[in-house]
Amino acid sequence: MKFSILAESLNKMESTTKRLELTQYLVELFENTPQDIISRIVYLLQGKIRPDFEGIELGVAEKLAIKAISKSSGITTKKIEEEYRKSGDLGQAATIILEQKTQTTFLVENITVERVYETLFKIARLEGSRSQDMKMKYISSLLNDATPLEASYLLKILLGTLRLGVAENTVMDALAIAYSGTKENRKALEHAYNVSSDLGKVAETIASKGLKGIEQFEIVLFNPIRPMLADRVKSEEESIEKMGIEFAAEYKLDGERVQVHVDGKKVVLFSRSLENISKYYPDIIENIPQAVEADQVILEAEAVAINENSGEFLPFQELMHRRRKYKIEKAVTQYPITVNFFDVLYCNGKSYLDKDYIGRRRLLEKIVKEDNFVKHVPMTIVKSQNEVEDFLENSINSGCEGLMLKMTDKPYQAGSRGNYWLKLKREYRNELGDSLDLVVIGAYFGKGRRTGRYGTLLLASYDEDTDTFTSICKVGTGFTDEYLDQLYQILSDKVTIKKNPRINSEMEANVWFEPELVIEVVASEITLSPIHKAARDVMRKDTGLALRFPKFTGKIRVEKFAEDASTNEEVITLYKGQKKIAHDKSLM
Ligand code: ATP
Repeated sequence: MKFSILAESLNKMESTTKRLELTQYLVELFENTPQDIISRIVYLLQGKIRPDFEGIELGVAEKLAIKAISKSSGITTKKIEEEYRKSGDLGQAATIILEQKTQTTFLVENITVERVYETLFKIARLEGSRSQDMKMKYISSLLNDATPLEASYLLKILLGTLRLGVAENTVMDALAIAYSGTKENRKALEHAYNVSSDLGKVAETIASKGLKGIEQFEIVLFNPIRPMLADRVKSEEESIEKMGIEFAAEYKLDGERVQVHVDGKKVVLFSRSLENISKYYPDIIENIPQAVEADQVILEAEAVAINENSGEFLPFQELMHRRRKYKIEKAVTQYPITVNFFDVLYCNGKSYLDKDYIGRRRLLEKIVKEDNFVKHVPMTIVKSQNEVEDFLENSINSGCEGLMLKMTDKPYQAGSRGNYWLKLKREYRNELGDSLDLVVIGAYFGKGRRTGRYGTLLLASYDEDTDTFTSICKVGTGFTDEYLDQLYQILSDKVTIKKNPRINSEMEANVWFEPELVIEVVASEITLSPIHKAARDVMRKDTGLALRFPKFTGKIRVEKFAEDASTNEEVITLYKGQKKIAHDKSLM
């Protein structure tokens, strides 16, 4: 398939934000795509080459791409950087540069999707000292044969800056229309996606086997299942209203969620965002096979740092010491954990997603043997507000965040946030009602003790409608020296020459970052703001919302994507909730 078909399609998609139009362009693209490469087209549309959980990253930095453009165009890197600064997009800059060049040269051959995909794959696999040179050669050889438009999209894919605004749901709509004639069948595709986390595989299945194939889609070991998420409740009273007369309450442990896939002695661990995190937990990998009485199983657990002497649970940030590149073995002994199991999704060839909670819990207790390292999450069946309160106290006293409340007769809803599971956190009962997970978009250099590091960070919430990150506050408190060092290190990899086009902020910053890192903050209140962009124009014209007295809680949410950060919708709900509390208090 000619790469130009994909590039033209991407070009049309980039120029619209209307979902219907986007879907239509996608349908046309799928109709022009041969069956055997549909999965590759779907990955490329998402700016990837394989599903996230395989961890194959292109790893091409802007600098390298600039060098490759220079090699293939004969134009100096300085000039290319200038062009880039003007347009703010390297893909676009390359188009302009290469347009000048094509006036004097002839294209040798058409590039195909197959060739692009294979080359990208090779680039991703390159390691070692000569890898940068090799990457540059591969990129410039593609650029040599590309038209300016193709070059632009090649670079966007390589740099991860393709911004089509096509959510997974839109891709599924288009697949359903292209291969089954109607959008109505999206639900079936969603199910397949939720149990495989692999949209390419879903596309390939519907293209080759039709709806029948999708309906027979099954869980496959070592393909992570998209996790079920919980809605929040603010009080014990509200939990009774929502859950009914009898339900399960479990401790909400403050650790990292791990999906544990076991096949005999082979164990693979996935995070909440479906990244393979096995390397951080060699102790889980080693101990699980003997604790599980089943050949093949998929379990869910929370890994929690503990105080080895007292067995007490320690806060989430203790676990972060394990997120290091080297000397993991040392971190494992320095920061011991327990693995606390709360669900079973698959056992010996059979899916348990449709089984009710109680059935799954019984099976879990039967097949997972407890010892010093392996535990079942504490659970009790509650029938009254008093019982919820009592269990909540116990949970907080053992170092947990609160409770997870679960309906006993309901299945596991992979990939969705619904009200079969609710979370009741202690902090929800304070004034603002919740902490926020925000994206670090910029920073200001520190002074005094903070010289040489970032003293203040500029944070953004996520605007789902426009797929942008809207500035909401600056934060400079809550940082210990250790956090300042850690954040400086993580963020220096994310610095960009120009502000990323998905960032919506009028603030000046000393440095801008790729919107990727999510951190947790608390604040005293949410106020109207003339300068920040979160929920702009919603409460009042030309006015956004901002956090007052924000403070970093110490949690770097490495398990979250930027798109999982608090949304403007959530910020608005918190803002309205806080006004209601103030109003109720004034009536007291
Ligand atoms: P949060 O910021 O509260 O962690 P989240 O968006 O990461 O929210 P939620 O589904 O809203 O995810 O909250 C559930 C999270 O709580 C799970 O992802 C898991 O890591 C953790 N957790 C702790 N204990 C339990 C439990 N008993 N059952 C399910 N999840 C639990």
